[in-house]
Amino acid sequence: TSNSGHVALELERAHTARNYAPLPVVVAEAGGAWVTDTAGCRYFDCLAGYSALNFGHRHPALVRAATEQLARVTLTSRAFHHDQLGAFCHELAELTGTEAVLPMNTGAEAVESALKIARKWGYEVKGVPENQATIVVADGNFHGRTTSIISFSGDKDATTGFGPYTPGFRSVPFGDAAALASAVDATTVAVLIEPIQGEAGVIVPPDGYLTDVRAVCDADNVLFLADEIQSGLARTGRTFACDHEGVRPDLMLLGKALGGGIVPVSAVVGSWAVMGVLQPGQHGSTFGGNPLAAAVARAVIALLRDGAPQRRAHDLGEHMARRLRPLVGRGVTAVRTRGLWAGVDIDPAVATGRQVCASLLRRGVLAKETHGATIRLAPPLVADPNDLNWAIEQLAAVLCEG
Ligand code: PLP
Repeated sequence: TSNSGHVALELERAHTARNYAPLPVVVAEAGGAWVTDTAGCRYFDCLAGYSALNFGHRHPALVRAATEQLARVTLTSRAFHHDQLGAFCHELAELTGTEAVLPMNTGAEAVESALKIARKWGYEVKGVPENQATIVVADGNFHGRTTSIISFSGDKDATTGFGPYTPGFRSVPFGDAAALASAVDATTVAVLIEPIQGEAGVIVPPDGYLTDVRAVCDADNVLFLADEIQSGLARTGRTFACDHEGVRPDLMLLGKALGGGIVPVSAVVGSWAVMGVLQPGQHGSTFGGNPLAAAVARAVIALLRDGAPQRRAHDLGEHMARRLRPLVGRGVTAVRTRGLWAGVDIDPAVATGRQVCASLLRRGVLAKETHGATIRLAPPLVADPNDLNWAIEQLAAVLCEG
């Protein structure tokens, strides 16, 4: 690490809240699928900002949209109209095949917003008695870090010490539609799931699960809330992970890549029949839907319109899966992939996920473990296939060393 890198680490140690344990690399610059540290060393980025960087670092079209908007207007608040918001919502409604968009900033805010909308819909439309609404979620979920969201997390680190928790949630095994059906009752306003559980280790549910969830929701007049914050916007080889089963949720939650890795942009999208429960003064955000965010998100939507990033995720993903499969039995116990998104379970007899990530870093690959033994590989969709091959060779070499 360079001197400026040491200074940066020392200042963080002294003054930055310790809610993360980053790998020891201090990034100074980035472009496409590669980042450069303060000492000039280059690394291939296999995390891509937890899929916020699906289009790579500093994608030219996204930087252009941001720069042009910076020269015009960046913030009005929602007290006034601005000339980007309507177009953003129209274009996102078109991309998602629905009607109405609630713009927010972070993923957790989109999830919180959807929980509020679902509850209000439950009371006003479904007729659930006041304060009785329940929402069914899945074990192993990750939807963010706010108080209500952690209230239905099963992760002890995420929950311990943060009570009292928000009531009204029931958790059932992920991938089990029968368990889901039996948890739904007359008080249930919504089912909230990730179509693929990212933080849990890229857990792909059995074929037909999303279709069955849709059927349970239809049968019991329950809203299907799909958290596509990590799975959506081309990562899985389709625009949305729900597209793999042709399933349409009632509310879809988007974030991460919607801001192009430049600004935080999230959204709840759905029909007016559901979104229409929100009236002025009942929900909001100072920065939600701001002109800069809207302009960048419009450029993101434009990139997705012809399906090229989706096709690239699919093709590169097939390639990645072919290269990863032979590692099973050679330091890897299982590989799960969907599009350019892989969960690689490291054999605990060989190394921990963290050790593998530390070794990958020394070889010039950025990756992050999740839940101890799993490494997630989710490089930007703009990655070069040869670079991806090289990164997987580094993984194979690290596992041999172990
Ligand atoms: N939902 C899912 C599926 C996520 O993966 C994440 C972040 O990892 C979130 C919600 C929370 O997003 P944010 O960190 O922007 O609040």
